[in-house]
Amino acid sequence: MSGEIHSVKLFGRKGSTEGYSLREFLQRHVVSFEWIEIASEETCLKNIGISDVNNVRFPVVQFADGSLLFNPSVRDVANRLGYIALPRLKEYDVSIYGAGPAGLSAAVYAASEGLSTVVIERHAVGGQAGTSSMIENYMGFPRGISGAELADRAREQALKFGAEIILMSEGIKGEFKNGRIHGQLADGSKMLAKANICATGVEYRRLELDREEHFLGKGVFYGAGVAEAPLCKGETIYIVGGANSAGQAAMHIANFAENVVMLVRGSSLKGTMSKYLSDRVTNNKKIDIRFNSEVTELIGDEFLSQIKITDNKNKEDENVDAKRLFVAIGGRPNTEWAIDTPILRDEAGYLVTGPDLLLNGKNPEGWPLQRQPYYLETSYPGSFAAGDVRHNSIKRAAAAAGEGAMAITFVYRYLNEDFDFIVKHTK
Ligand SMILES: Cc1cc2nc3c(=O)[nH]c(=O)nc-3n(C[C@H](O)[C@H](O)[C@H](O)COP(=O)(O)OP(=O)(O)OC[C@H]3O[C@@H](n4cnc5c(N)ncnc54)[C@H](O)[C@@H]3O)c2cc1C
Repeated sequence: MSGEIHSVKLFGRKGSTEGYSLREFLQRHVVSFEWIEIASEETCLKNIGISDVNNVRFPVVQFADGSLLFNPSVRDVANRLGYIALPRLKEYDVSIYGAGPAGLSAAVYAASEGLSTVVIERHAVGGQAGTSSMIENYMGFPRGISGAELADRAREQALKFGAEIILMSEGIKGEFKNGRIHGQLADGSKMLAKANICATGVEYRRLELDREEHFLGKGVFYGAGVAEAPLCKGETIYIVGGANSAGQAAMHIANFAENVVMLVRGSSLKGTMSKYLSDRVTNNKKIDIRFNSEVTELIGDEFLSQIKITDNKNKEDENVDAKRLFVAIGGRPNTEWAIDTPILRDEAGYLVTGPDLLLNGKNPEGWPLQRQPYYLETSYPGSFAAGDVRHNSIKRAAAAAGEGAMAITFVYRYLNEDFDFIVKHTK
């Protein structure tokens, strides 16, 4: 926007995957930025003072103080902006994995109740909700709020109460011994806590088409396209999906694009999209919906140029010109870390908790305590799950935030139990 002062400028080549990752990260952390495409020696000289455009390692990031980073990773930029921290304690009362609505809410409640609290997040705060252009059904925001802003407020609130949020850190395995969870992190370090909450949510499902990875950021994008939407001016944009995330993407992108085509596999939006949203989508003159349709091929050289759309009802294929395709088709749970642990997952990988663990009213096999698992407790005492990652969860931001808060009540109860007994009876 003209006249706006940006704290960060990004200079890069058209269709750069690295540029896309940086834009997405900055947008998620509500860092105002400007993306400037460098196409010639002149634009290169004018913007970064170097004319030899072929020898510049793009993307280049310029910070408010004028300093430049050449071809930095997302981690480098996060570090430079002060988002990367190391854990301060050797052991915490509760470790929370995932900083989506469930994890952030758990962090706010845990820290405000005086528990030493750490949140491990592998990417950016906000989770899926952080990618939403506008959340309109979250209580207290009658005019809606962008997911990134909601997440940023929750982050600030959790930090205010003393929670630590460790970004760019991924839990890859859990080990339970001596009444502690030993979380193994991707960088090789360990995170020790008396109780833990898995709030790792779900990850966007891919189309599983040939060359999909190649086209990432070069025409194929996942989610609501918040960071990309302003770049869609004058284009016809295709969106795959018929649920709320696809509807939000369509509404948001329609503000910029010439028109938007939604490709929906089912024959209606009923049952997959909230009524208020499907009404808006169908009434929006810029949005067309093609039902019974799916993308079956991605076509292009370096950049996406066409997609093949298969109409499953009429059994017809059509190739259409498409420079940008947004994929919003739900996700699969992030629970690989729980493989080879005593924690029970359902057939789709979601963590089973509380009453869902009982078989004919009896505790699950291997459960070591007299009491039944608490409502959000997994099949290992002291290890809880909240939000979308949980079997039978509601898949809404408010529900996830509610579960995060509720999980802390159970963590409290657990920490007040006979800990020596637990240590003795858990392997
Ligand atoms: C585009 C979009 C729009 C939406 N709009 C709405 C809406 O308007 N209203 C509504 O109610 N709901 C909406 N939803 C659904 C809502 O966002 C989710 O239900 C909610 O975000 C779930 O929260 P969560 O905390 O359980 O998980 P997530 O939001 O999925 O967050 C999980 C977090 O865990 C992190 N993580 C995963 N694995 C690991 C690991 N091993 N180690 C460390 N971190 C890890 C992820 O990076 C992520 O940040 C929308 C979803 C999408 C995708």
